[in-house]
Amino acid sequence: MADFKLLKPPVEGAKITTKNGKLQVPDNPIIPFIEGDGTGPDIWRASVRVFDASVKKAYAGKRKIAWFEIYAGLKALQKYGNDNVLPEDTIEAIKTYLVAIKGPLTTPVGGFPYVCLSCAAEQGDSPKNRPKKCIKCGSEWITPRFRSLNVGLRQRMDLYACVRPVRWYQGVPCPVKRPDLLNIVIFRENTEDVYAGIEFENGSDEVKKVLKFLSEEMGKKIRQDSGIGIKPISVTGTKRLVKKAIDYALSHQRKSVTLVHKGNIQKFTEGAFRDWGYELAKEAYRDTVISEKELWDQFNGNMPAGKILIKDRIADQMFQQILLRPDEYDVVATPNLNGDYISDAAAAQVGGLGLAPGANFGDEIALFEATHGTAPKYTGMDKVNPSSVILSGVMMLEHLGWQEAADLIVSAIEKSILQKRVTYDLERQMEGASKLKTSEFADALIENMD
Ligand code: NAP
Repeated sequence: MADFKLLKPPVEGAKITTKNGKLQVPDNPIIPFIEGDGTGPDIWRASVRVFDASVKKAYAGKRKIAWFEIYAGLKALQKYGNDNVLPEDTIEAIKTYLVAIKGPLTTPVGGFPYVCLSCAAEQGDSPKNRPKKCIKCGSEWITPRFRSLNVGLRQRMDLYACVRPVRWYQGVPCPVKRPDLLNIVIFRENTEDVYAGIEFENGSDEVKKVLKFLSEEMGKKIRQDSGIGIKPISVTGTKRLVKKAIDYALSHQRKSVTLVHKGNIQKFTEGAFRDWGYELAKEAYRDTVISEKELWDQFNGNMPAGKILIKDRIADQMFQQILLRPDEYDVVATPNLNGDYISDAAAAQVGGLGLAPGANFGDEIALFEATHGTAPKYTGMDKVNPSSVILSGVMMLEHLGWQEAADLIVSAIEKSILQKRVTYDLERQMEGASKLKTSEFADALIENMD
């Protein structure tokens, strides 16, 4: 049993474990959750009622999740003090219990040295003048600027695959004519690429060293007033991501996996991603996958039953493809930056981020999360749409193998949207819709499970 500093796991639950790489889920699994900052608590209160209702209904009370609150962001600061926004307890709990879910967390973005975790306002000018109270909302929960907690969680647990399913829900307003044709699952590499955090600022001593090395040792001429970022993409990082994507395609009866890259320009990183992706597919799945060339040379373009097509597209073309030929794409595997752009573009195509779920997977651990931010201006107003966390919970239930409960929630969301009983963000775009609070939307979903 893990040794926690301030956490007490629920006594009535049991631990999820793994055996031969497969998840072993008891009927009363302990699942850690992080409420999140800003609107996170409103969203979590609504979401947990929906999860519990679906599990109770699907399994007639035989199964029940033992929720275990863990802390990051504002609540961590309040509980642990000492500017501790990501306590070791939190990392340890997720590592111990293997499956966890979280709401949005504040991420400072600007150049200010302090951030208010109550309203996300950034402020202060130096450690000498550390603000005692937030200049915007008056809260005392000010902490020094930190790197993204989301990135911190992913890095600490090596959650290398960011997974975003994107599909349309009937009735959701959106900018395209046939949103129903897009139904893809994006596997975005989470640990490498320009997100590795290796950057040297213009004018710094470090950048001067790098420029000197590149010029003198490598013969590369770069403008002296440049900042420099490094883009590592490895065989290891690529192959484990592509493996996850192919495994998912196989276990979810998907038809194809598309490697999306910018290999025409960045040959040794993005191009290598494509090559290593194909290599992995051949090495590990030779009997199950076929390439586009094999499809045409050997099968005259007709997909043989039981096989998965593996293909690749250049990233800029992929943005056109998901708009123009959305039904030709299914599972997508791509490096970090392409994945970041494509996830949001695809979500916008079917009606926005409010309904987009997400998850981060490592070899054993899975962390499910909202894809939107903390929407701090709506904190405590019981107003925002909880669907992103709820649908992340659907992914979590599927991961546990509790498909019946997951299906109940999805059909309840579909019904509520068709009934036009929605939160403000959808109501303002739908004619004749009723505007529900976050909690009332949860009530509507629970009612629609009957
Ligand atoms: P944001 O929190 O996503 O909010 C931007 C706007 O998106 C909101 O004002 C609202 O638009 C809409 N929105 C967001 N969530 C919604 C929901 N659940 N229901 C309905 N509408 C929703 O982005 P931000 O204001 O740029 O970021 C705020 C903080 O969140 C920052 O600290 C940021 O770094 C952090 N963040 C965290 C995560 C994460 O934890 N995964 C992700 C992104 C950002 P309207 O006002 O137009 O209705």
